[in-house]
Amino acid sequence: MRCIGALTRRAKLILVLIVVSVMSTACSINRPPDYDSQAVATICDSEDGETVGVSFLGETKQVTVDWVPTWGELYELCGETAGACVNLATNVIHMVDNRRCLQSASHELGHIFGVAGLDAPRQIALRRQKIYNM
Ligand SMILES: [Zn+2]
Repeated sequence: MRCIGALTRRAKLILVLIVVSVMSTACSINRPPDYDSQAVATICDSEDGETVGVSFLGETKQVTVDWVPTWGELYELCGETAGACVNLATNVIHMVDNRRCLQSASHELGHIFGVAGLDAPRQIALRRQKIYNM
């Protein structure tokens, strides 16, 4: 009995290792540019209305940053729950100029470069919020 128990534990451990390695592979594909990447730095260093070339995963795209002066204006452009947004037809990122630039630039660049599932955690959070508010 002891032997079987140990084998099962080992099998479980191996299974966990396989699942974790598959998940981490998937994550490296589905991740937006890192906060300390050149792509994010280029966006955060750009002037209002400036179009810059941004490279990610071997692709280069022209991206324009619209630094929005107030949250009120951002809400009008992006909707009430967004911290920033991007127009994928023109690759214009609308962002408030504050310390959240790294986070917003990374996320919106993820959209521009077609990283899948970016908003899934937020949508789940919003759904949870809705349930909690009921
Ligand atoms: Zn998003």
